[in-house]
Amino acid sequence: MNSLEERGEIVVIGAGLIGLSLAFELRRRGARVAVFDRFEPAKAASWAAAGMLAARTEEIADEPMHVLCNDALEGFPAFVERVREASAIDPQLRRDGIVQAAFDEAGLTRLQARASALAAAGVGHTLLDARGALTLEPALASNVLGALLTHDEGSVDNRLLGRALLAALARMHVQVATSEEIEVEFDARRVCGVRTRWGFRPAEIVVNAAGAWAPHVAGVPEECRPPVEPVKGEMLALAMPHDFVRHTMWLGGCYVVPRTDGRLLVGATGERVGFDHRVTAGGQRQLLDRVLTGAPSLAGFALVEQWSGLRPGTPDERPILGATSRDGYLLATGHYRNGVLLCARTAELLADEIERGTPIDAAFTLARFAENGAAVGA
Ligand SMILES: Cc1cc2nc3c(=O)[nH]c(=O)nc-3n(C[C@H](O)[C@H](O)[C@H](O)COP(=O)(O)OP(=O)(O)OC[C@H]3O[C@@H](n4cnc5c(N)ncnc54)[C@H](O)[C@@H]3O)c2cc1C
Repeated sequence: MNSLEERGEIVVIGAGLIGLSLAFELRRRGARVAVFDRFEPAKAASWAAAGMLAARTEEIADEPMHVLCNDALEGFPAFVERVREASAIDPQLRRDGIVQAAFDEAGLTRLQARASALAAAGVGHTLLDARGALTLEPALASNVLGALLTHDEGSVDNRLLGRALLAALARMHVQVATSEEIEVEFDARRVCGVRTRWGFRPAEIVVNAAGAWAPHVAGVPEECRPPVEPVKGEMLALAMPHDFVRHTMWLGGCYVVPRTDGRLLVGATGERVGFDHRVTAGGQRQLLDRVLTGAPSLAGFALVEQWSGLRPGTPDERPILGATSRDGYLLATGHYRNGVLLCARTAELLADEIERGTPIDAAFTLARFAENGAAVGA
């Protein structure tokens, strides 16, 4: 296989964190890459997310997904460092752990069982009693019974990460362009390129990284359309004094994520309502009820932002990665709740497949749906 420098251009469709991270990785390896988005780059789910890196706190039971998320967590600091160096923008990675709080006996028993499982897996953690929990996080409700701090997890400012990737790609002379019309063109066997508002652009490889919209990219044969469905998530942000909440915390039914700019993000709802992305009274009430139950002292702070985004959900909650039945047409979508965590690992896996032909684990390819007899197409 020729080196990436000698091969034809790679076109990435979709400039969210998945598409931008892939373009960054491919360019680092010497490829010629261009990215096309229908709208403003880095402004869809990748902008709306909370940016948690919760590979362990998510308690993912599915083994391939568990391994993927843990590999992603391990590699994330080096990725952020590369992006920071290439862009001169710091995406504010925090790895001070994630706190899960318990407010009833059943919750406490769950945390104790979880601590035993983490110990067995050799994962650093601290199990705290009520006093320890309130010392670590004084904003917690006074009826807290205990908390579990899982080490080495944390968050990244996903909006800054998007900006940093765009700046890095500009410095690396990678075109990231907006074209309302983007159609993929194929011959009988393989992909040929994309048609944008500037005309036809030949490409050796086209990667669909269009998030929740991935099944709807124009020109693609039915059998190559991934079964991805939008899952709406609403969020809000409060303005809090410095360090009022120190860690990302799961409070039972909602989470809070502190940002260095003084905002405290509160999320998130989860609804399958198609492409309706309105912020609703009911969604916001749900978030406020839950966060003020777990941390009542937040009630006096200003509500400074409310927004929503569409997660790319899949039937088995795994992403859909790699080759399709048409040569040169690849997928990098369906990252559902963990696309920020998974962006760098996804980029590595796709780049390995493109550069060296290293196949991606069958647990993540589109073919798994056909093999299971499930319908392909959302
Ligand atoms: C409220 C909320 C909270 C979340 N919190 C977290 C979290 O804490 N941690 C975490 O890891 N993940 C989180 N996620 C999930 C994460 O945001 C997503 O999995 C991830 O952003 C998906 O990235 P993406 O690049 O695939 O999609 P997107 O960011 O949605 O980008 C897709 C891009 O494709 C473009 N596009 C669409 N159609 C076309 C087309 N036909 N042609 C060209 N371009 C097209 C869109 O305009 C968009 O820019 C959260 C998501 C939401 C909504």
